[in-house]
Parts: sequence; C-alpha cells; structure tokens
Amino acid sequence: MATPIRRALLSVSDKTGLVDFAKALADKGVELLSTGGTYKALADAGIPVIEVSSHTGFPEIMDGRVKTLHPKIHGGLLALRDNDEHVKAMEAHEIAPIDLLAVNLYPFESTVAAGADFDTCIENVDIGGPAMIRAAAKNWQGVCTVVDVEDYALVLEELEANNGTTEAFRKKMSATAYARTGAYDAAISNWYAAQLDIEYPKRKVVAGELKQTMRYGENSHQSAAFYTTGENRPGVATAEQLNGKELSYNNANDTDAAFELVSEFKDDVACVIVKHANPCGVAIGDNMKDAYLRAYSCDTESAFGGIVAFNQKLNKETAEELAKIFLEVVIAPDFDDDALEVLKAKKNVRVLKTGGVADPADNAAMVKTLSGSLLVQSKDNEIFSDDFKVVTERQPTEEEMKDLRFAFTVCKHVKSNAIIYCKNNMTVGVGAGQMSRVNSCRIAAFRAEQAATTAGDDTSWAKGSVVASDAFFPFADGLIEAAEAGATCVIQPGGSIRDEEVIAAANERGLAMVFTGMRHFRH
Ligand code: 5GP
Repeated sequence: MATPIRRALLSVSDKTGLVDFAKALADKGVELLSTGGTYKALADAGIPVIEVSSHTGFPEIMDGRVKTLHPKIHGGLLALRDNDEHVKAMEAHEIAPIDLLAVNLYPFESTVAAGADFDTCIENVDIGGPAMIRAAAKNWQGVCTVVDVEDYALVLEELEANNGTTEAFRKKMSATAYARTGAYDAAISNWYAAQLDIEYPKRKVVAGELKQTMRYGENSHQSAAFYTTGENRPGVATAEQLNGKELSYNNANDTDAAFELVSEFKDDVACVIVKHANPCGVAIGDNMKDAYLRAYSCDTESAFGGIVAFNQKLNKETAEELAKIFLEVVIAPDFDDDALEVLKAKKNVRVLKTGGVADPADNAAMVKTLSGSLLVQSKDNEIFSDDFKVVTERQPTEEEMKDLRFAFTVCKHVKSNAIIYCKNNMTVGVGAGQMSRVNSCRIAAFRAEQAATTAGDDTSWAKGSVVASDAFFPFADGLIEAAEAGATCVIQPGGSIRDEEVIAAANERGLAMVFTGMRHFRH
C-alpha cells in the first residue's frame, strides 16, 4: 500500500528542476516547506510555499549554519506514524509530519575542485542537509528521501502510479540517500587529510570502517590498511582469527582469492592453495584430506608458504597433513577442536574461521584505484552462459564434461592469460598471468610435466587432461600446443574471428571442444 505525501520539505543548493518538481507536488495538494534560498526561488515562481523559519518559529541564524536544525523539522522527519508515543509527542509539541524530503547539499566537492581556499571549503560543509537526509532515510516507514535532482522524475512517476510512495520505493531511496551522505563525508575527510598532508593509512577514510592498520603494504616501503565495507559477507574481512600473527596486506589479498575460489564448489569437498593471488593447486576430493593432498600434488614447490582454503569444516587428519609444510594462512568455515589444536601447535600459521562459504553469485562491487580515481565494476559472479555448446565432431564424455566444468571454474580465478590443465577434478598444470596465451599453454604444460616428475610418473600429467582458457584462442597455436602436451578436451569462451580455424585444428587432432559464451578476464 502506498503512503500519501501531504507535506514536503525542499532545501536545495542546486536549484535545477526545482520549480517544475515543486509545482508538480503543489498541484497534487502537497504542502511545501523550504529554507531561505529555495523558498525564494519557489515564491518567485508563484508556487505556494511556507518558509521553514515561520514553520518552526525560529529564524535562520549564523549565516545559515543553523536553518533546519530544529525539533519541529527533525521530529517531523523521524516520528514513527504508527507509534502512540511518537504521535503523542507530535501532538504535545505541535510537530507536523513531513512525508517527503528533497535535499541536495552545499556543493563541497565542486568548491574544492574549483580550488577554493580552506575557509571557503569549510563554509561549504553542509550540516543541516546531511542531518535531515539521515533522519528521513532512517524513517523509511513514513518518509521518502530525495538527494539527487535526477530522481525528481522517479518520484513523480511513483506518485502518478501509486498515489503515494510504496515501501519498496522508499527503502530504495533511503539506500541512495545514505550513499550520498557517505560519499559526502568521505570527500570532506579526504580533502581535510590532504590539506594536512596526512597519508594513508593514518588518513582514516576511503569508504568503510578501519578494521586494521597493517605494518606495510605489498612491499615494506608501502603503507596499508584494511577497511570493512559493512556488507558482512563470509570472507577474510569478517572471519574470526583463531591463531597466528596479524594478517598482512598480501595475506588478506591471497586469502580472499583462495576462499572465493573454494566457495565455488559448494556441492563438493574442495581445497585451494594460492600463491601470489593465483591458485597453484585446486582439487575436489573423496574427503578433505584427499582434496588437500591432490591440490598439493599439483605443485608441491609453490605450495610452500601458501594459503590453503577449504569449503568445509577442517578435520584433524587434514590438519596433520597441513602441519607438514610451512603455510601462511589456513581458512575454512569451521574447525574441529582437535584439528585446531594441531594447527595451533604452529604459532605462526594464521587460522581464519569464516562461519560459512562465500556466495559466488553475490553482487559485490569490485573497486580498483587508478591515479586520482576509482574504477568500479560488479563482481564476475557467473561462469557459463546459456550459449554453452560443443563445437567439434567429437563430443566430450560425461567424465570429461565434469573436468571441463571444473577447469573453467578454476580458470575464472586465475590471472589472465589463464590456461589450466585438469584431470579427475584436480588441476595438473596452471599457466597464469602471461601476456601471450600460447606462453600460458607452455607454462601450464611444463608444470604438468613437473608434477608428474615429482610424483615419480613417466608421463606428463597433461596426458589425457582437459584444458581451459579464460578467453578465446586468437589463433590455433595455443590449442595445438595444448594438444601436443596431451590435452584431449578444450573449454573456452569462443568468439574469435578465427574460431573456424581453431575448431578445424581441434577436429584434426580428435579433440572435443566446448564454447561457454562467457569470458573471464582477471587482472
Ligand atoms: P537555501 O538555498 O534554501 O537557503 O539552502 C539550501 C541548502 O541549505 C541545502 O543545500 C541544505 O542542505 C542546506 N541546509 C538546510 N538546513 C541547513 C542547516 O541547518 N545548516 C546548514 N549548514 N545547511 C543547511
């Protein structure tokens, strides 16, 4: 059911679209309240409007520093309409409910960008505006909050469609409102810290809450800190640390990579070992120890000093295997008491309990900083498209199809260009982060040979394997390289202008190949 708007407060620095919006509201019988400048703009346009100072009986003072900071305004925004005590308080103090708040803030960001002096920037820190936005957005049950000129049209559409605002709409507007106050305060803090020449991590901002200041960043001459975003997803940021020293910057980054990948295999017992943000061994096992030993066997050399992630509660027999080598971090949803005891005997190994696995389909934002800016994208939260199809004469067997799916899932979590050989639900060769795809093929094949040598086998583990590529093969050479290494099946997105050439090369060699229709660059 929609809630009607009877009274609205408009207080905007940017007057774009104001008159049309206010007129549309007034035409629907909404009573309008406004602060000085906004009031004047509306009165000049002949729109019926009441000045906030006459509504509160208190003048705007101190050059506008105090305009709306009054119980008649904040009570009107915060009162719960269905709460008897709140209603009584409104009656006792003659507070009228306000059902819509439209505010845009003093232009702090553009004042800074224009190169204004310190005092002018400070004067452009809005106080009453954010206070009202936060109050209105908190009271989503009764109030619709608008913080962006662009959203006036949305509000009018909502009123047209529903004769009021729906709960879903008000909640969405509240989320937008807090994004604005959050960004506004972050901008103020960033600017302030820059004026005082405070560097990260002592500059306590970015967005989110400081969880930990780190001793250093990726290298010892870089400073670093760890912020939580408040999203509360199972993972490194929310995990409980049960043993070991504080996490370093690289630990946090690598552990996240390991945990995100192991969480993809929710129907199986899986283990992932990560070094430098890339998996050096991934396996599904009959049981946990089996999964770990198979993942470990893929690259016993690189696993040293690695990060190991599990998607199930860690047991003692697996912990005993883990204790045989030096590891930086072990992360799992939970730990058996006796398993924890085994790990704790090594005081340096960091043990993280997450309480659950990550949701690979979640819609978290990924943020990367460039010089002076942030690049933001949604998470790569899918694996295959609906366009998943076999493109060769030979069809993969059921067994091969399982390995293909496994290999492509791992591939998604490996830095591009990524080439992965897999056999029997485990990686046997990982080629990561090369600038040429054919070189990734060669490196992965070399690793598969080494894995065989370590295990005392005569034939490369790439023999009879499946191979996954994170993006299409631009030429047939990478596929031919993989075939020569012994791969019998290929999975890749497809979509190259030379697909026909690549398919022909696969057919000539009796390979089966699947196109997934989805690419997984990871940089
Ligand atoms: P107007 O142009 O209507 O005089 O002022 C609008 C601006 O004042 C809006 O940007 C709004 O966020 C801000 N504002 C509203 N109330 C207060 C207050 O009590 N203190 C301060 N500093 N700004 C306020």
